[in-house]
Amino acid sequence: MNLPGAIALVTGGGRGIGEAIARRLAAGGLRVVVSGRDAGALEAVARAIGGVAIPADLSDRDAAAGLAAAVARDVGPIAVLVNNAGIAESAPLARTDDGLWDRTMALNVTAAFALCRAVVPDMAKRGGGRVVNLASNAGLRGYAYTSAYCASKHALVGLTRALAVEFARSGVTVNAVCPGFVDTAMGERAAANIARATGRDGREALAALSPQRRLMTPEEVAHAVWSFLPHEARGLTGQCIALDGGQSA
Ligand code: NAP
Repeated sequence: MNLPGAIALVTGGGRGIGEAIARRLAAGGLRVVVSGRDAGALEAVARAIGGVAIPADLSDRDAAAGLAAAVARDVGPIAVLVNNAGIAESAPLARTDDGLWDRTMALNVTAAFALCRAVVPDMAKRGGGRVVNLASNAGLRGYAYTSAYCASKHALVGLTRALAVEFARSGVTVNAVCPGFVDTAMGERAAANIARATGRDGREALAALSPQRRLMTPEEVAHAVWSFLPHEARGLTGQCIALDGGQSA
């Protein structure tokens, strides 16, 4: 991997973890394309990092394939694909309706699958590339009241491992970062849900899950993503790295 000038696509790059990843990759010399639904947020990030914004609603499978084609046409071949866009809605099983299940799977799994299918074979033809999927601690273990989210992140971990093996001899590596709770809007919503349900301080409750007694930062997640990219990391593939202050240990 020759990183400076290489093209990276970061989904959900307009805010939260995706924005931090976009900024980290741009600081490392990559040309970063950010995607998501909020065109204004994407434009602001793209302007700040000298990148490109291409809006897309990735819960539509065809839009995911269309995004890959648009990047290839308007910017160039994707060397680094970061499947970061995701949603997390919590509900007990009996209130996990078909809509919640379907929209979770559509964005958290199917969009990543569709983008990988559109991008990875071309990476392999060009001799290599990097895919990093934003899974979750919830892709490695179960949590109550999040069956759709947990199932989607376990599926993303499975996709990561399967593609890592399938493309092992191509120069493409496929890995996942599995954060514990991260200090973003998604983390805030989880904290608010806990506060509503238990009357406890939600942030403190989330922090207490980690031996480090804190939430992770988006920048730490971005650093983990970055660590998979250099040539020296080419032996790391099929790994789903927990980034959780020791929670999973
Ligand atoms: P966030 O603050 O809620 O941001 C979600 C991102 O996904 C936004 O950029 C959003 O952009 C994008 N997105 C949502 N729906 C989309 C759609 N239909 N099409 C395209 N993009 C869409 O979440 P975050 O904390 O940064 O999470 C990023 C990733 O990390 C997710 O996959 C999440 O599951 C994972 N993760 C988060 C935590 C945590 O505690 N925060 C922990 C473990 C794993 P638009 O609104 O512009 O579409």
